[in-house]
Amino acid sequence: MIKIENLTKRYGKSYALSGISFEIGKGEIVGFLGPNGAGKSTTMNILTGYLSFTDGSVTVDGLDMLDFPDEVKKKVGYLPEIPPVYPDMTVSEYLNFVYDLKSCKLNRKKHIEEIIEVTRLGDVKGRLISNLSKGYKQRVGIAQALVGNPPIIILDEPTVGLDPRQVVEIRNLIRTLGLDHTVILSTHILSEVQAVCDRVIIINKGKIAADKKTEEIAGAVEGGKRISAKITGPVKEVTSALKALQGVRSVDVGGQLDMDSTDYVIESENGVDIRKPLFSMIASRGWYLLGLETAGANLEDIFLALTEKTAETKSRKKHVKISANA
Ligand code: ADP
Ligand code: MG
Repeated sequence: MIKIENLTKRYGKSYALSGISFEIGKGEIVGFLGPNGAGKSTTMNILTGYLSFTDGSVTVDGLDMLDFPDEVKKKVGYLPEIPPVYPDMTVSEYLNFVYDLKSCKLNRKKHIEEIIEVTRLGDVKGRLISNLSKGYKQRVGIAQALVGNPPIIILDEPTVGLDPRQVVEIRNLIRTLGLDHTVILSTHILSEVQAVCDRVIIINKGKIAADKKTEEIAGAVEGGKRISAKITGPVKEVTSALKALQGVRSVDVGGQLDMDSTDYVIESENGVDIRKPLFSMIASRGWYLLGLETAGANLEDIFLALTEKTAETKSRKKHVKISANA
């Protein structure tokens, strides 16, 4: 559906993208994950035909972007980082306006009604956009992307600035869209990718750091589970008792929380759930477990693990070479 080869974007002397390549198949939900300035918006702006590029090629549904820019634009619905909504129009007026702007040929009334239904804007369709909550405004932004029924939907940081409930609603909407569209979204939040996407392309400093199925990311990177536990009792004894538990790989003392409880970060082997044995061990020693939560990998951990992994592979290869020569 989408094929990007050696895509490069240069601003003066600095490179926003230095030669990235990937393909996205029909019906996939793909997340672009990366910190601020990684090149996510640049990639999306190029894919939607709104930004020129320095080198490489972009093909959408078999059409080369440079040869067929207008046809490509029709195939892509886009929600930019700052949604292009007009505050002094009602939701309905605005969607009709976008319909005209895109010279849409579908049955106007039916098409707009369907979009309003999918994005659940029915209750507010007569309201001025300026009076809507941020979550609803974001839905209006997604609704305008759907006008013309493009097969590809691109959403740039669609949940930024929303409250947790709105985040859940927008993620559900994206999953629904994924049933009959190819969807690309960008985010700097790992858990968002894990919640919504089939696949993740990690972008860092204008390069692709990883391109994997979502379920491979956590496993490949964490190599084990980390939980954080608040436990009462003497730190030295608690630490050695934790280390003695089967399946525990490492224990970090996170700090004294108050007079008699301490925070520990416990890493366990892959596939081992230490919560139950942890609980009974603590009870049997007469200590108390005051809190227990999963401490997932964050984006920094992931980049670190990915770069370490590359370094490791390189040194291993080097080693093999040396011993082969000897
Ligand atoms: P992201 O969306 O991942 O946060 P961007 O794609 O917006 O990142 O930016 C990638 C890089 O390109 C950044 O270093 C940014 O400063 C640079 N950049 C983006 N737009 C421009 C511009 N118009 N002129 C110069 N540099 C730019
Ligand atoms: Mg951006």
